[in-house]
Amino acid sequence: MKPFRYVRPASLAEAAEAHGARPGSAYLAGGTNLVDLMKLGVERPDTVVDVARLLPGGIETTAGGAVRVGAGVRGADLAAHPLAGARCPVLSQALLSGASAQLRNAATTGGNLLQRTRCGYFQDVSKPCNKRAPGSGCAALDGVNREHAVLGHSPLCVATHPSDLAVALSALDAEVEVTGADGVRTVPLDGFLRLPGEQPERDTTLRHGELVTAVLLPPGAFGVPSAYRKARDRASYAFALASVAAVLEVRDGRVARIALAFGGLAHRPWRARVAQQRLLGERPTPDAVRAAVDAELEAARPLRDNAFKVLLARNLAREVLGRLAAPGQH
Ligand code: SF4
Repeated sequence: MKPFRYVRPASLAEAAEAHGARPGSAYLAGGTNLVDLMKLGVERPDTVVDVARLLPGGIETTAGGAVRVGAGVRGADLAAHPLAGARCPVLSQALLSGASAQLRNAATTGGNLLQRTRCGYFQDVSKPCNKRAPGSGCAALDGVNREHAVLGHSPLCVATHPSDLAVALSALDAEVEVTGADGVRTVPLDGFLRLPGEQPERDTTLRHGELVTAVLLPPGAFGVPSAYRKARDRASYAFALASVAAVLEVRDGRVARIALAFGGLAHRPWRARVAQQRLLGERPTPDAVRAAVDAELEAARPLRDNAFKVLLARNLAREVLGRLAAPGQH
């Protein structure tokens, strides 16, 4: 491992200053991803700024009914919180389908969103990878790409985002609170995580020095039917080949509200706006759901090894939406 300087600032302002002062610095919170990547030589910070004791660790309901989840809240604590159980099933189901109990006890909410792709070529420093070493090429493009993206990829990177939580947060229209030297700003989750485009080395729209301090869930995230379903190679401790987060409210037999997001298919959660638009106001019959999901997935561009993901995602979405539309019949 490359030697590095370790800093433990006394405040978030000091942390942002320490991080912003050096281009090669990294924030450390739960450390469940960063430390692994440092051991592999993938992440090579010259300064590590430890913010574990500084990140907000509470879950609070605001005056407007939104819920503010501090970036330091551990995954296990968020999954077990009363607001995330029966009140917001998609949130707890996504959290509990990710990682192991040990990791959920250590990993933070902010870090969950910031975890790096598990593309094997990214983690292998002997291979070309535009995300790790911009301009070096993408070994996955013509390599083993069974677990890679089918939507929104670019010729420079075909990686997927590994977080289950992010997929649920996308469907819940969550926002990310970011703190930096210029103050605090909030960004919709879908504007926080990026598609690779011409800059695959950038996973997010964070500016250097900024850090995630909270996730904001709107009042409408709670008390509505929702679900998360994940398909993976093993029953546990595996990342999604494809996953679906859905919110569906049916009134008088018609879809009154719908949010659908896919995981495991793209460089960020893929919000299925085409399918949503097709279903809103319609009767959620199996045929209507199938047509809407198929219309969304027409944009898919599978790679050599992963055409199966399109069918997998389609079936997951049909099952989850069908279950939410007609509870008790599935
Ligand atoms: Fe690197 Fe992205 Fe290609 Fe993987 S898919 S090797 S992360 S550039």
